[in-house]
Amino acid sequence: MKYVLIIGDGMADTGLAQLNGKTPLEHLDLPHFNILAGGEHGTARTVPEGVPAGSDTAILNIFGYDPRKYYSGRSVLEAAGVGVLLKEGEVSFRVNLCAVEDGIMLSHNGGGIEGDEAETLMQDLIAHPDFAAVAGKIALQITVSRTFRHVGVIDAPEAGEFILKEPHNILGEPWQDYLPKGALCNELTDLMLASYRILDQHPINIARRQRGQLPANVIWPWGAGRAAQLPSFPEKYHHAGAVISAVPLVWGIANLAGLPFPQVEGATGDLDTNYEGKVNALLQALKEGDDFAAIHVEAPDEMAHAGDLEKKLEAIRRLDRLVIAPLLEKLPEIDPDFRILLLSDHPTLLTTRTHDGNPVPYAIYDSRKPGQPRKFSESMATQGPALENGDLLMPRLFDQV
Ligand SMILES: [Zn+2]
Repeated sequence: MKYVLIIGDGMADTGLAQLNGKTPLEHLDLPHFNILAGGEHGTARTVPEGVPAGSDTAILNIFGYDPRKYYSGRSVLEAAGVGVLLKEGEVSFRVNLCAVEDGIMLSHNGGGIEGDEAETLMQDLIAHPDFAAVAGKIALQITVSRTFRHVGVIDAPEAGEFILKEPHNILGEPWQDYLPKGALCNELTDLMLASYRILDQHPINIARRQRGQLPANVIWPWGAGRAAQLPSFPEKYHHAGAVISAVPLVWGIANLAGLPFPQVEGATGDLDTNYEGKVNALLQALKEGDDFAAIHVEAPDEMAHAGDLEKKLEAIRRLDRLVIAPLLEKLPEIDPDFRILLLSDHPTLLTTRTHDGNPVPYAIYDSRKPGQPRKFSESMATQGPALENGDLLMPRLFDQV
């Protein structure tokens, strides 16, 4: 028996005027979603009431870790995703490279900076004596990536609450109005101002401006969190296997849960991600003896944040055609008996371009009793079981309840 979890990030939505009141899932013709909905099709509250809605809290819960108990900040999970496991007393931050011009926050991702440019800017910043002097005061260690997302860790067992604004929530506003408050606010502010002085006229940013791109000219710490420990997934469920995703957050949850998270070339988290490579990585893991595997597709969420209906629809179509279809075709060659759990981690609303904490539709398909295909959608799901908390999903996938 094989068990597969498929997460379409942010797929679920509310009815939209442009779709005659239907949601994207209701509007689309998704034959392979519908095959899966032939099994159990219900709703699950993946984000407990009172908990902020996000992939961090929702996916933790889906893997069986109630965020009310196990969530200690997004950056802790992202740090684990790049191999940084916090020790007792340490605090992690997400460190973004942002773009500011004329005092205004223009981009929370440094104008989409990536690759050598992102890495070089960060390395040059860290090596700069002015920055090193400020960072040294709080013994800041930064783990650099080839994107706008980096991870900072400090040792601060006594520090109180950090009050740090998310840079994506202050787009178009004067950035210096949102400098850190709370614990270590002076040190963190000095760090940000030093980064601006060093990066603003860096040759890479001068060249970016000449090409009409935004500069990545200030670092922005946010999402502070302290060490988290998760009970082992293999011990909890007696099943184990690979988690396939493009995003550090999901790798981090896998890492802390004791599951491997193989990296797939060309997996970007965007609409044109390497679907085939991800599906093949999942199938390969199952062939090699794992009995569980998970695949996470980020694109529907990103397209909803961008407010782009057409692209959100296309992201969901591609999940149907490029992920679920080949899985339904190839899984029987590995094992005729398999169960698949398909769901949206949380709704991401095109109307507000943000996450929502309402229950999501899910389907659990069993190859031994497939049932008749039916529409997979928010409305159809309300006719099935209503799971009060998302941590009930994994035991259901594994047929343990
Ligand atoms: Zn999102």
